[in-house]
Amino acid sequence: MNKSLLPDDVAAYIERTFCEESQILTKIREVTATMPEAGMQISADQGKFLSILVKSIGAKHALEVGVFTGYSSSVVALALPPDGTVTACDVSEEFTAHARRFWAEGGLDKKITLHLGPAINTLDALLAEKRVFDFVFIDADKPNYCGYFERAVQLVRPNGLIAIDNTLWSGRVSDASDLSEGTVAIRQVNEMVSNDPRVDSCLVPIGDGITLARKR
Ligand code: CA
Repeated sequence: MNKSLLPDDVAAYIERTFCEESQILTKIREVTATMPEAGMQISADQGKFLSILVKSIGAKHALEVGVFTGYSSSVVALALPPDGTVTACDVSEEFTAHARRFWAEGGLDKKITLHLGPAINTLDALLAEKRVFDFVFIDADKPNYCGYFERAVQLVRPNGLIAIDNTLWSGRVSDASDLSEGTVAIRQVNEMVSNDPRVDSCLVPIGDGITLARKR
């Protein structure tokens, strides 16, 4: 899962104190942990944080860019009211096959609609349909983060929230000598969000960092 920037014992303290999960979330975590790409999954405390955000703003319709094996979409679906919806975007048939199985097992499949394909295209289609969302979670390919954020700002309602994952990038964002593609992309989106007059924003150092933007 997303490696916390906190010392291991501190991260473990938070996890054992605050991160009790429902059965389906534990199962997703355990199955995903056996995969080589397990590091792409959000941590349990991040899941808890997203869940509280969703409930706090009374979200009904959520949008997710980057599904992986379905942990965060399940967290969000569980936090939504019974008639809530999650519109989920991903390009990977392989990973989302796991997600679909978990959604069905958790009884969440009726709430979640998966759009397989490049998310930029899906978001453009949602904009054309004039869809409106209360909550957006972005956790996908970093070079497209600015493109995802721009569309998310247009898709989210006033007082809605956009959460973007991995925005501390293991701390590499602060290393000026690191000019790798991912690091540069994360720095760009953080600059973009923090300077965007359409939102209030902050960076929450939970997990690998979540940049949070509230639409004005
Ligand atoms: Ca992530």
